[in-house]
Amino acid sequence: MIKDILQQFNITAKHSGVSTGAHWLSGTGSVLSSVSPVDGQHIADVQSPGRDEFDAVVAAAGQAFHEWRQWPAPKRGEVVRQIGEALRTHKTALGKLVSYEMGKSLQEGYGEVQEMIDICDFAVGLSRQLYGLSMHSERPGHRMYEQWHPLGITGIISAFNFPVAVWSWNSMLAWVCGNVCIWKPSEKTPVTALVCQHIVQSVFAANQVPEGVCCLVAGGREVGEWLANDTRIPLISATGSTRMGKAVSSAVGARLGRALLELGGNNAIIISESADLDMALIGCVFGAVGTAGQRCTSTRRLIIHESVYDAFTQKLVNAYKQLRIGNPLDENNHVGPLIDKDAVSLYQASLQQVTAQGGHFLVEGGVLDGAGFESGCYVKPAIAAVQNHYNIVQHETFAPLLYVMKYKNLQEAIDMQNGVPQGLSSAIMTLNLREAEHFLSAAGSDCGIANVNIGTSGAEIGGAFGGEKETGGGRESGSDAWKNYMRRQTNTINYSNRLPLAQGISFDL
Ligand code: NAD
Repeated sequence: MIKDILQQFNITAKHSGVSTGAHWLSGTGSVLSSVSPVDGQHIADVQSPGRDEFDAVVAAAGQAFHEWRQWPAPKRGEVVRQIGEALRTHKTALGKLVSYEMGKSLQEGYGEVQEMIDICDFAVGLSRQLYGLSMHSERPGHRMYEQWHPLGITGIISAFNFPVAVWSWNSMLAWVCGNVCIWKPSEKTPVTALVCQHIVQSVFAANQVPEGVCCLVAGGREVGEWLANDTRIPLISATGSTRMGKAVSSAVGARLGRALLELGGNNAIIISESADLDMALIGCVFGAVGTAGQRCTSTRRLIIHESVYDAFTQKLVNAYKQLRIGNPLDENNHVGPLIDKDAVSLYQASLQQVTAQGGHFLVEGGVLDGAGFESGCYVKPAIAAVQNHYNIVQHETFAPLLYVMKYKNLQEAIDMQNGVPQGLSSAIMTLNLREAEHFLSAAGSDCGIANVNIGTSGAEIGGAFGGEKETGGGRESGSDAWKNYMRRQTNTINYSNRLPLAQGISFDL
């Protein structure tokens, strides 16, 4: 099945990972070997760029920008509309490949492609709504307004866990805004990136989009560093760990470029005494074990009112007993593998830390072996009772490890929810209006996303997505996140026959 998908997109066993659109360059960098965590099988080798090919790609992108920025935005939107159509055609094939290369469930693989389609639709509408403001000038016979212009090359660095959706959030918006894009996908999921490049390339060719508008540099960390340091690239949008974000932020900041950072989370749900516990259960379990706990918005912590703690943790333990772990392409399974054995080692180290720091397990974790688990990447979702201040709880473990803790009053719960370095997603389960509104108020959650009666995991593309503190402060996707991809220009036009100066300054000659 996967072979057929690769053939359909002309992905050869050894494929270039360097492209300016229709043109694929023969890379001279290291070879990325893509291995599926589902069954440990090798998918393809992808050749990354050396420094010379990287420079050639940036030069091609810069050249293309001169033409692309002059296309009317609705015409650029029409091209993006066609990308959305092509993604609809290829949703099943690409969704399966996402599931196989990354290890998320088939439903989530399809969901990821659906998210790409949704952002295309959003971007098409946006292409006619890149609105500026007009202001009233303090001077007679003057008009003042602001407009938004394309910025230039957008460098996109993405993480393995959303191998294609994060690129589309960035690139579809960047394109309608008149930018050109250079994408460095995760070295762990380069093959899905090749497929995206092939899909976009065929749409671009049919519309005579200049070569260089959609570029790919599939490589490792070094290629990301080249992007971050390159003064030809005004905007770097980087998604990944906080460690990576700090490195990218310093490199981009040192050259006074713009960085849009989407980094790690440590997301909590408060389970109030007034929660609908049955409803809360679904949000908590999906949030903790969906994508095997490898979403930036995965639920890591449950802060549970002491009066419902025993009842709710018992429900959780019972629910965890029902979980089926196995091949994510089999829709009967709830939990697939972690991305690779390094991730498994980090998960095991975190389990040890939990007990070393004073926690105890309500549901034990462990690595699975035997038939069906040959890749060595399947682990048991675990639940541990902990204190919020434990060092291990303060860090994001990118695996299905859920922490539970008790609270007495709402302020204490909010303080615990906010009492971590990260600030991405948060939620409260409550039927009490006062609690809900307090949680959403300025004195409530300090996260970029705050929900009531839904979990932390997953977001709709219509809202601005991102978080505060060590999550990086960036916002992508919906609302007015498009402004990140453009430069604002303030214009004042004098149509009078005098030249009055601002602030009433007189300057006579
Ligand atoms: P990672 O930081 O290891 O890698 C992410 C990307 O950054 C990769 O493409 C990698 O090659 C590149 N990279 C690494 N170091 C770099 C450097 N110094 N300079 C430039 N590029 C560099 O992250 P990962 O393991 O792929 O993904 C998991 C992490 O991503 C988690 O922390 C998760 O929370 C986070 N994430 C955040 C969001 C969000 O929107 N906030 C979304 C998805 C994932």
